[in-house]
Amino acid sequence: MNIPAIMPTYGRMNVKFVRGAGVWLWDDEGRRYLDALSGIAVCGLGHAHPRLAAALCAQASVLWHTSNLYRVEWQERLAETLIGRSALDAVFFANSGAEANEAAIKIARLAGHRAGVERPVIIVMDGSFHGRTLGALSATGNAKVQQGFGPLLEGFVRVPYGDAAAVARVVAENPAVVAVMVEPIQGEGGVVVPAADYLPELRALCDRHGLLLMLDEVQTGMGRTGHWFACQGMGVRPDVMTLAKGLGNGFPIGACLAAGAAAAVLQPGSHGSTFGGNPLAACVAQTVCEVIEEQQLTARAATLGVALRAGFKRELAHLPGFVEVRGRGLMLGIVLDRPCGVLVQRALEQGLLINVTAEQVLRLLPPLILSDEEAGLIVTGVSALVAAFLAETSVPAGA
Ligand SMILES: *Cc1c(COP(=O)(O)O)cnc(C)c1O
Repeated sequence: MNIPAIMPTYGRMNVKFVRGAGVWLWDDEGRRYLDALSGIAVCGLGHAHPRLAAALCAQASVLWHTSNLYRVEWQERLAETLIGRSALDAVFFANSGAEANEAAIKIARLAGHRAGVERPVIIVMDGSFHGRTLGALSATGNAKVQQGFGPLLEGFVRVPYGDAAAVARVVAENPAVVAVMVEPIQGEGGVVVPAADYLPELRALCDRHGLLLMLDEVQTGMGRTGHWFACQGMGVRPDVMTLAKGLGNGFPIGACLAAGAAAAVLQPGSHGSTFGGNPLAACVAQTVCEVIEEQQLTARAATLGVALRAGFKRELAHLPGFVEVRGRGLMLGIVLDRPCGVLVQRALEQGLLINVTAEQVLRLLPPLILSDEEAGLIVTGVSALVAAFLAETSVPAGA
């Protein structure tokens, strides 16, 4: 029996990147690739960013880790920064998106128990993705990723995404509901942008019934959608918000932010993390925030997003098989009328890194530091691939 040394949790492509600079990556044969995926919305500032490398190296020769038994200067600074940008009140630091969401789930349950709810319920959405740990997996609305891992956690009720009335119906029927957990834009689910009134309606509903509105901004956060956090572009302040991906630009760190009463739920002994927010991670994340701020990358993401969507519409709108281009800022989905997973390998062969999610949605999550010229290369390269693909797989007229 031939057992691979790395458990095959990913169907990996046969390419090894050995070096990066900005939006570019190089493989071990010296070939260059334009990274329009950013390691799945992680490297918002691109690869080998000089400011981040300098901050990481400087901190590496000073102090890596102490413990959350002690005060951590960088963690305190990062918390102040995130609180300032989000207008929320407090932060718990973790190491990943799934872990940040576990903290959110625990806050909702503990708050529920304190309010006398014996078996608290969290409303979650079809098509959602919240991570692979058992709590986050149970909240996730994708049967494929849950398959085989039962028994899952109880205490989640699922409703269709984008349907505030469905949430209201569950709330009306079930007095054990304590929270609503939702992505402002579904990422893994296919770059699904809800109607403009969806989040505000959920906010109003949660206010009326004393529920926590918990936003998973692991993919949408850190400037990607043209705001620091996508909810700000939708006019909503959540009670709980989770971050990871872009927060550390590739250095593992996650965060669970909370406001008001939700920020006071966790107390000594109720939750924790050995690594969460250690000096190295918090120093890198603080520097990420400073660069986003100084270079006004949220506004830049918004501008680039408009240009990219317009470019794709111009190039693709006339093609049979093209459905729409959607998204906000630098979170884009090109929706086709047929499965298009093969495009990922073809793009790689053309020196372009993209992704396909929900089978028919070509997803782009380029770095926020993209130049106009590089954005043009993405439009040209992706459009050519899509046009060729649609031409070859279309049913001939009259067939
Ligand atoms: C990627 C992602 C997660 C999981 O993050 P990990 O760091 O892989 O645990 C959770 N929620 C959303 C919306 C994501 O996109």
